[in-house]
Amino acid sequence: MAELPPQIVVGGRLLPLEVQRRRGTRAIRLRADAVAGIVRLSLPLRGGTADAARLLASHHDWLAAQVARWPDPLPFVPGQVLPFDGGELTLDWSLQYSRMAQRVGDSLRIGGPQSTLPGRTLRWLKAAALADMAAATQGLAAQVARPVAQVRLTDARARWGSCASGGRIAYSWRLILAPPRVRRHVVAHEVVHLVHANHGPDFHALLARLDPHRNEVRRWLAGHGAALHWVGRDG
Ligand SMILES: [Zn+2]
Repeated sequence: MAELPPQIVVGGRLLPLEVQRRRGTRAIRLRADAVAGIVRLSLPLRGGTADAARLLASHHDWLAAQVARWPDPLPFVPGQVLPFDGGELTLDWSLQYSRMAQRVGDSLRIGGPQSTLPGRTLRWLKAAALADMAAATQGLAAQVARPVAQVRLTDARARWGSCASGGRIAYSWRLILAPPRVRRHVVAHEVVHLVHANHGPDFHALLARLDPHRNEVRRWLAGHGAALHWVGRDG
C-alpha cells in the first residue's frame, strides 16, 4: 500500500502533511490549516491512501493558492516589528542593553546573547498578557460578583479562551498582540461563563452588557486571528 509522505512541497514551501484517520466516515478531506501552517488530510479508518495521494496531486494548485494567502511568519529577530496591543512593537536588540527586556515607546529593548532573544521576547509578551488579562478578568468578575480561582495562559490554536468549573480561566497569550477591545471581548466571554456555563440566551444577554463590541471583535478575529499564530515562528 502506498504511503503518504510526512511533508509535501506546496508553492515552493515544504509543509508538514498531517494525516488523521476518522471512524465512521468514508470521505477524504483536504485542508490547508492557516493557523497551524499544516496541510491536513482526513481519511477513513482504513484504506484511502491511493485516493488521498491522487487528491493531493489534483489539488496542488488549489493548495498553493490557499497557502499563498497564509500570514507571514514574524520570527523574534532583531528589528522585527510585531503587532502589539493595537499598535506595533519593534524588537530593538543590542548587546549594550540590559538582559531584562524594557519597553520604551513602541520598542522593546533587549540585550543579552542573540540566541536567547526569542525566549526572552516570548516571556516578556506572556508577562504583559497575564498582567493585562488577569486584571481585566478580576475587574469584570467583580461586576458579576463571581470569584476567579485562576487566570493562566495557553498557546491553544483552536480557541482564544476557556473557562473550567471552579472559576479557572485560561487565555491564549497571543491576545496581547491584538487590540485591547479584542481582549476585552474574550475576557468578557469567559467571565460570563462564571455565571452561565452554556451559550444560551442568558449568556448572550449578559455578554451584551459587558461587551458592546462583540460582533465587531468577532469579525476582527476572523480576519486577523490566524496571523497572531505566526508571531514568533520561523516558517
Ligand atoms: Zn464560550
